[in-house]
Amino acid sequence: MRRSFIQFCLAIRAVLAALGLTLLLPAAAAAQPLQSSPCFVNQVFESEAALERAYKSQSRWDCSKQKEERAGGDWSLRFDVAQSPIVPQVLNTRLGYFERLRIAVRNDKGKWSIEGFGLEDAKSTFGEPMIEFPVPQVSGKPVAVIASFTGNGHGSTLSRAMLLDKPQGLSESTLIQFMSLAALIGMMLVPIALDAIFYRAQRRSFLAWHIVLTLSFAGMIVTRSGIINLIAEVPPDIWRVMLIMATGVMAATALMFLRSYIEPDRLSRRLRAAIPIVAIWTILLSAVHAASLEVLRPLGGNFHSLGMIPAFAVILALMVDACRKRSRAVIFVLIGWAPILLASFIQISTQILPFALQNDALPLFYIGILSEGIATAMGVADRFFALRRERDDAISEAKELGRLSERDGLTGLYNRRTLEGRFDDLRQQGFDTMALLDLDRFKQINDRFGHRTGDAVLVACAKVFNSGRRRDSIAARLGGEEFMILTRGRRGLQLAEKFRQAIPVRVAAEVEGLDCPVTASMGVISIPSEGLQGMDFAELYARADTLLYEAKKAGRNRTVHERIMRFDTPESARSVEAA
Ligand code: GH3
Ligand code: MG
Ligand code: MG
Repeated sequence: MRRSFIQFCLAIRAVLAALGLTLLLPAAAAAQPLQSSPCFVNQVFESEAALERAYKSQSRWDCSKQKEERAGGDWSLRFDVAQSPIVPQVLNTRLGYFERLRIAVRNDKGKWSIEGFGLEDAKSTFGEPMIEFPVPQVSGKPVAVIASFTGNGHGSTLSRAMLLDKPQGLSESTLIQFMSLAALIGMMLVPIALDAIFYRAQRRSFLAWHIVLTLSFAGMIVTRSGIINLIAEVPPDIWRVMLIMATGVMAATALMFLRSYIEPDRLSRRLRAAIPIVAIWTILLSAVHAASLEVLRPLGGNFHSLGMIPAFAVILALMVDACRKRSRAVIFVLIGWAPILLASFIQISTQILPFALQNDALPLFYIGILSEGIATAMGVADRFFALRRERDDAISEAKELGRLSERDGLTGLYNRRTLEGRFDDLRQQGFDTMALLDLDRFKQINDRFGHRTGDAVLVACAKVFNSGRRRDSIAARLGGEEFMILTRGRRGLQLAEKFRQAIPVRVAAEVEGLDCPVTASMGVISIPSEGLQGMDFAELYARADTLLYEAKKAGRNRTVHERIMRFDTPESARSVEAA
């Protein structure tokens, strides 16, 4: 049973290693590592005598390569270097929390040379979160190096420790790696710029979150790759905190971005509500891990890795849910995020699985950032344009509704409310003649030929008002078979009269089955601009109506016109025109 479990773990480890490592850029370190892998004991040695006893009793040391249970607490690593052609100068290991490190070297004469360090004494390296300590030198031939970590917090600090013949420095391959990463960071400016441009046009929160997310990816690259040490040599204890927080912030911003980016109707309300909580949890958890509390130390890095599982689970649940609900946005996320999710999965699972050597799958992560940048930027643009289309449709629909409410449904002419609302403006624009037009004996047309024919007559009338040059006239249907025409210019009255006289001709031409001409009567009032003062729409309308009544009384099919010369009515000129 146990055997098959081990085999299972080894198989998983092989798959994960293949996935992560095949993508590694060539990392030909200039420094040479020692071949011998260390042996371990769960104890530290303070005095030379204790070291000598430990050195002599080989059986105390566990030389298997299993990393299980080696995380928290006090640990010593023993390197047997007697056979090595290389003189160890540097202890190189994974960055992690520990209280104190003592490196002791024994020569072939049994003499020990010992030196103590804190994490802050380490030198940060480039390329990966690794640190280095100088190995104290002894006279003669060194035969063993014992590194004792007091209060160790991170399993990989033990499992990845190795001796080098010189400090790693900045190798050519690391430099090439840095240059590619710098180019990658440069490329990330494109989605940021696009988001900013879109955001100016439409203040959508997912655009702002995508900027934050892209920045957090850039921050992650800079800290994780060690480029940061090229800019300013960061003390290892601070670098460690930055790395942990960068992971937490990245996970949290990824969650918040997804929450704002997936279409609201394609995301369950429960997940939506859970996301900010999980985001805050990942940041708090990272802060607690960075503080390296003593009670949590036995858990090592597993504490952080296990704590990230809810964030992972929510992202996966959200994607599954959005896919099921046929979200368009999630397709871009799936394509773009697959490598990053896989890299994070490899990192977390190799951290947790007892037999897997920790693998950060960094190259896969970097490729993932590139694919994320491209796919999500495309997705963000896609969603932006979809939203803009929706908005434009809504605006044109609103415009159409507004237009409809301004018009009369049958004839398409303005309605009374519109004309009245614009009356003051039109007056300013020089419309100084108001004509009120009513069809003669229209009721008879309805009675004899039917309502539909009546409607057709009304439509034909509207066409008359819409014909010719429209600059100087504007017509509205006030209701029934009554129309108002406002005209301007010296020939305002003639223009209105022309419309009235055109009605019988046009109706006869357009409406079939009529056996008599359809005529109209009109009351027209025109007021030179100074005379308009003090007369509102209702008053003018009332006067025009009186004139129309007079036209009807005088026998229909005619116009009664009145020109108001001054403010007062007595000095007005009247005329009657019959067709
Ligand atoms: P007058 O010459 O005195 O104006 O006589 P008239 O028959 O035109 O006047 P009246 O006010 O008695 O009749 C107006 C008719 O207009 C009555 C109504 O049936 C008709 N009418 C009102 N609105 C509509 C409409 O939308 N369509 C049609 N087909 N008829 C309408
Ligand atoms: Mg009428
Ligand atoms: Mg009428």
